[in-house]
Amino acid sequence: MLKNQKIYSTVKGLVYTLKNYSDGLGHLIFTNTCLHCQNELTFSERFLCWFCWESLERTFFEHQTAPTRLDQLFWGRVQIKHTCALYYYSKDNICQSLIRSLKYDFNAPLGVFLGEHLANEIKEHPIRFVDAIIPVPLHPKKKFARGYNQSELLAKGLAKNWNVPILNKATFKKRNTKSQTKKDRFGRWENVQNMFELHLDLFQFKHILIVDDVVTTGATLESLIVSIQQKTPEVQISLLSFAFTK
Ligand SMILES: [Zn+2]
Repeated sequence: MLKNQKIYSTVKGLVYTLKNYSDGLGHLIFTNTCLHCQNELTFSERFLCWFCWESLERTFFEHQTAPTRLDQLFWGRVQIKHTCALYYYSKDNICQSLIRSLKYDFNAPLGVFLGEHLANEIKEHPIRFVDAIIPVPLHPKKKFARGYNQSELLAKGLAKNWNVPILNKATFKKRNTKSQTKKDRFGRWENVQNMFELHLDLFQFKHILIVDDVVTTGATLESLIVSIQQKTPEVQISLLSFAFTK
């Protein structure tokens, strides 16, 4: 009898432990919360709650006829036909929560979703009329660690209804650069010089769109654009980014 009671309590304990584990796992897999405020999402909300989507800080660059701050960032550095970025990125803002999840949460569906969102918001912009898309390449080591290149995911979402090729292998990042935020302009330029290699002949394209997740100093983009323009100076280049650092 004593033996049976012992077996019973052991089984009961095991069931409780399993139940706790499965509850935890279920919470991890099924709980759908806002990436910024952590409120639970409704069935119609994705990644952010409605309030956070509405509170994202827009640049409205797409409606601006005068040169934007993003245009001005590249003045005297490289020739860019059109530039656009949708949201302002700053410390602890909602856009930062989106970008953080995109970079560090293995959240590939978010990248494609943000690309589709970008496409919806710039339907009328001249930036939309390009012959090909080049996502800003990541160094292979970084891409491996992250699981994907977030700019490639944005491009995938963008191009869903555009019918233009995405040239994921057109350029190659040779060096894994360190963070550039604390360097001055010359230091940043030294850090990114000869960073990219062209692996595809781009002569066949008239207008190429470079896609990035966040533009901060523009030094990496400058280096990428210089490497393209050195080999194919007649190709026009535009830039589209999800966010621009305020
Ligand atoms: Zn929220």
